[in-house]
Amino acid sequence: MIISARRLLARLRDVMAGTDALQARLDKIVRLIAAETVAEVCSCYVVRPGDVLELFATHGLNPGAVHRTRLRMGEGLVGQIAATGRPTAISNAPEHPNFAYRPETGEDPYHSLMGVPILRGGQVRGVLVVQNQHRRIYHEEEIETLQTIAMVVAELVAGGVPAEPGSAAASQAAAQIMPARLVGIRLNAGLAMGHAVLHRPVLTVREMVADDPEAELARLRGAVGTMQDSLDRLLAGSALVEHEESRDILETYRMFAQDRGWLARIAEAIRTGLTAEAAVQRVQNDTHARLAHLPDHYLRERLLDLDDLANRLLLHLSGRASAAFGTLPEDAVLVARSIGPAELLDYEESRLRGLVLEDGSATSHVSIVARSMNIPVVGRCAGAMSTIEPWDPIIVDADNGNVLVRPAEDVQELFARTMSLRAARRRAREAETSLPAESKDGVRVSLHMNAGLLADIPHLAATGADGVGLYRTEIPFMVRSNFPDVTEQTRIYREVLDQAGDKPVMFRTLDIGGDKLLPYLKEEPVENPALGWRAIRIGLDRPALLRQQLRALIRAAAGRTIGIMFPLVSEVAELDAARALLTKELERARHQDERLPERLKVGIMLEVPALLWQLDALLPRVDFIAVGSNDLLQYLYACDRGSAPVAQRYDPLSPAALTMLRMLVGRCAEAGVPISLCGEMAGRPLEAMALIGIGFRQLSMVPGAIAEVRAMIRSLTVSQLERYLDRLMSGADHSLREKLRGFAMDRGIEI
Ligand code: PEP
Ligand code: MG
Repeated sequence: MIISARRLLARLRDVMAGTDALQARLDKIVRLIAAETVAEVCSCYVVRPGDVLELFATHGLNPGAVHRTRLRMGEGLVGQIAATGRPTAISNAPEHPNFAYRPETGEDPYHSLMGVPILRGGQVRGVLVVQNQHRRIYHEEEIETLQTIAMVVAELVAGGVPAEPGSAAASQAAAQIMPARLVGIRLNAGLAMGHAVLHRPVLTVREMVADDPEAELARLRGAVGTMQDSLDRLLAGSALVEHEESRDILETYRMFAQDRGWLARIAEAIRTGLTAEAAVQRVQNDTHARLAHLPDHYLRERLLDLDDLANRLLLHLSGRASAAFGTLPEDAVLVARSIGPAELLDYEESRLRGLVLEDGSATSHVSIVARSMNIPVVGRCAGAMSTIEPWDPIIVDADNGNVLVRPAEDVQELFARTMSLRAARRRAREAETSLPAESKDGVRVSLHMNAGLLADIPHLAATGADGVGLYRTEIPFMVRSNFPDVTEQTRIYREVLDQAGDKPVMFRTLDIGGDKLLPYLKEEPVENPALGWRAIRIGLDRPALLRQQLRALIRAAAGRTIGIMFPLVSEVAELDAARALLTKELERARHQDERLPERLKVGIMLEVPALLWQLDALLPRVDFIAVGSNDLLQYLYACDRGSAPVAQRYDPLSPAALTMLRMLVGRCAEAGVPISLCGEMAGRPLEAMALIGIGFRQLSMVPGAIAEVRAMIRSLTVSQLERYLDRLMSGADHSLREKLRGFAMDRGIEI
């Protein structure tokens, strides 16, 4: 059987362009497909809310089963096609282990089955199936033709056809110009206002079928030409020279863009009767079906690159490329389904005002990078990519986890006023960078900053921070596609120390694993990544990795002071093992006549509660302790720090957490070991106040928080707070937050 894709497409277009209701059109389409493919049955299943596949139209099966037969994703052959997103062709379906018999459909006599997913925007919207009575083998071209047809059907199913007035699709189109409020969670506090820029937007193709393939091929050639020119210009752009990673990505793009196979497949799809846009989408669907299920992280990343490239080509075809890839608005609010730290760094930092993510968690690395850029971030914001249009005015109210899309003018004015008040307050505080962080009763607190990028270091001077209390060395690792070698690491650490000058820097050795995955470090997926193979555990199991890093740190510090700390140490024996590696590296450096650091301070991140019961052995072995309260509290409360439903369940300002921390501060004081805290709570004025109240005299936080915390300290009388807290610590409260807030308000403490 040879199906003429072009003839079938042309006839489909007539049905699509008709004015019939959706059901009538689908009924016609399944009849048409059955006739053209010489199949006894053609059925269309559509994904319904709750991930259920509903039989929506059929030619050949029992009409009474329409809207009655429902399958779960993964159930039966149809469910399997939907779950995997891959086509299937079977000559004897009833014998297949996945066959799910549904008596109401009357499908007993049909043996052969060919089914393809109905894909749109990378998502499965349904399944298109043909069945034959006799056992037959479906050819590759037939599967491909059915996939092309499914793409056209996808438009109909997704409501992509021109909306009839008053229909649901029409009201959805109208909603694109109405104000909307999206709710997510706060990943980095703050307010921002600007214009939306969509990261890797998913473009929907409306015109599917073309009459003149030659004209479409000419359009394709034109668009490929302009796309290649713009990629060349981007590659030549001086701004990218600094980001080697971006160059790698762009080189990959250029490679794909010139890839004959890719372009030839698009041209071939055009010859079957598709428009150039539909052909690009068709080839992309195929590539997804082939590659999306690969376990290899690297290949899946490349698939994202290819998606991006296909999107670029679609934009060039539509003539909208300059709007999408032209200069960023001055006040860009980036909206993304998900985005990696390297990609975020590709955007011009000075123009980025805020970030809205459909996924993301507070501890994901992109949040950490965004925090260091000091931009408000709202995450888990469902529907952002489909609701927000490029250049939409947008307000990111990250404090409340809200995103206001196309807000009314009075709302914009209100936020603008609040933002300018805040900015004035911030400016006033920043003017105080040279003032000491000293309380009214003369208690000095040392304020340090957390960093992870070279670009963070200038904040040392700008904020008046006393040093870098936590340098997250994994961030440069996360933005690369392979391990930086010793030379590269040495270069980075040396640059950090050079820029920091006299101010101390505490380098934390690699804290990878958990949610911080490196694409090039193979890890088996585990149930509980936070409790899994991460941080020092990886370092001790892969000593070469840790030793290389220690070697680079020693070399970078030649003749200077350096702090090195190990993350997630759970027992003293681990510290001893890590120190033994450090000693080996120092001996090696000595042997090779390298200049040694003038002073080497060795500490640990206290993040695992077990260590609290080994303080006697621990304290004499360390030069300092840094409390990683993000992790310590998640383990203390058995509460995933990245899980939205429980993230707010326990409060760091609970009597239990504060009592534990106070005990730790007391033990360090007795042993004469300096202690600081560098979790997120250190950067929130109210929490920082409580930490000072229980004895902390050194805190490390995002640079953007230093001015506020300093202002809080300068308005605080520590002795009063200590007395107040003493009375509260033994109480049964869930949290001391409200009481502490009241204390601060009554005394004019700036929280
Ligand atoms: C912490 O756990 O508090 C910490 C500072 O480390 P990270 O957030 O990088 O895990
Ligand atoms: Mg930690």
